[in-house]
Amino acid sequence: QKDRQILVANFAQINDRISSLESKVSNYKKRLNEQRFKSLLDSLTKLPNRAAFDERYNYEINLFNEQPSDITLVVVDVDHFKSINDRFGHTAGDITLQVIAKALQKSIRQTDFIARYGGEEFVILLANTDRNASYEIAERIRKRVEDTPFKVTNKYTLSVTMSIGLSVMDEQSDIKTTKQLVNAADQAVYAAKMSGRNRVHHAD
Ligand code: GH3
Ligand code: MG
Ligand code: MG
Repeated sequence: QKDRQILVANFAQINDRISSLESKVSNYKKRLNEQRFKSLLDSLTKLPNRAAFDERYNYEINLFNEQPSDITLVVVDVDHFKSINDRFGHTAGDITLQVIAKALQKSIRQTDFIARYGGEEFVILLANTDRNASYEIAERIRKRVEDTPFKVTNKYTLSVTMSIGLSVMDEQSDIKTTKQLVNAADQAVYAAKMSGRNRVHHAD
């Protein structure tokens, strides 16, 4: 009877230790997930960052290879952004980026994916959107930002414009790789800048 009691007590102890270890492991897992999530977010705008974009982009391209559809890449570059930093200070520049990020996020659909690609550049992936529709979406985003004045440092009211480049990968297009798609969108942004900024340009 006594041996049995000791054994039962031992088992209870072991059980307690297992539960405590299990809860520790689940805590670590949770923290690891949180860290992974954070490492994919841009800390200033809280948008997905470039690493997150690359991951999603590869995923969409793999899908495309299995079942071709339309993938549109939208590259957004703020016009004369440096002059905001220069005239109103870096904090005003940061606020500007946050305002733009919010406006962009509000303008896209749930199935689209937006990220801050770096500096004052944002990218949006539009799924299953043809050439005309994607142009209209980009144009709406451009207008929305242009028409939204905002306050920085409680003192100045600013508004900014953006140049936007679009490239599409579909079964007919010559674009076959992610690199080509990005290059084409970059060139379209450059063309938008060269032809006067504050406009949308389609790669062709
Ligand atoms: P353009 O119309 O030709 O695009 O001119 P731009 O001034 O927008 O482009 P440029 O590449 O000359 O300048 C981009 C500036 O963005 C330079 C850099 O200091 C600023 N910048 C990049 N990241 C941040 C950021 O996180 N915060 C702030 N405040 N500024 C940033
Ligand atoms: Mg730029
Ligand atoms: Mg710029």
